Amino acid sequence: MREKLKALAELQKVDLEVASLRKAADVHPRQLAELERELGAARSAIEAERNRVTDIERQKSTLEQNITDEKDKVKKWEARLAEQRSTREYSALAREIDIAKKANQTMADELVELSKTLGGAREAVKGKEAEFATRQEQLSVRMTELRSKQSLAENQVKELEAKRSSVSAGVDPTLLRRYETIRKKKLPAMVGVVQGGTCLGCRMNVPPQLYNNLRVSLGTDVCPSCNRIIYAVEALETPAEK
Ligand SMILES: [Zn+2]
Repeated sequence: MREKLKALAELQKVDLEVASLRKAADVHPRQLAELERELGAARSAIEAERNRVTDIERQKSTLEQNITDEKDKVKKWEARLAEQRSTREYSALAREIDIAKKANQTMADELVELSKTLGGAREAVKGKEAEFATRQEQLSVRMTELRSKQSLAENQVKELEAKRSSVSAGVDPTLLRRYETIRKKKLPAMVGVVQGGTCLGCRMNVPPQLYNNLRVSLGTDVCPSCNRIIYAVEALETPAEK
């Protein structure tokens, strides 16, 4: 009986260990997902900066094309200016040329500003890329750590599960069934030791008659308060220790 109770206590120990390992290992996938999200956000930030550069480049090439077109127009008008015979038509065309040249100057000024903005935006992309590279390196170190911790925990769980099946083979089948039923309720512990008349599973006193029976029989019973399997602490002691 003592050996069977020891096996039961050992089984509970293994199960609690597995449960706490699983609980701790639960953190790893969550942390990994969080790091992935962080990297994704950094990548999107770079993408946004790159899109901004592309936008400005497009604006700039449109503006350059407009300037070229306007200059060509002015050149054509200037050639036509020499052919003007009437003073009225000459001055009308000269005025048009003047307006076009002013507009061109405005566009040239805009182009200078746009080039500056483009330079700034390109610098921002470079900065973001460097930032990302550093962060990615840090995160990948952290991710590798997490992955190895995770596989370590998985291996530990596997080992414990192997141990569990050998330990549960030593438990009395009826007790084992009772134990599994209680285990499904996910109590913090499935087996309670009764010491000095108190169930250590729920900290309630068991009826004195039940306590006496447990001490005399050195067997198991059920705690009336928490339904855990209980046995007297004396049942685990070897006769020599008494
Ligand atoms: Zn109890």
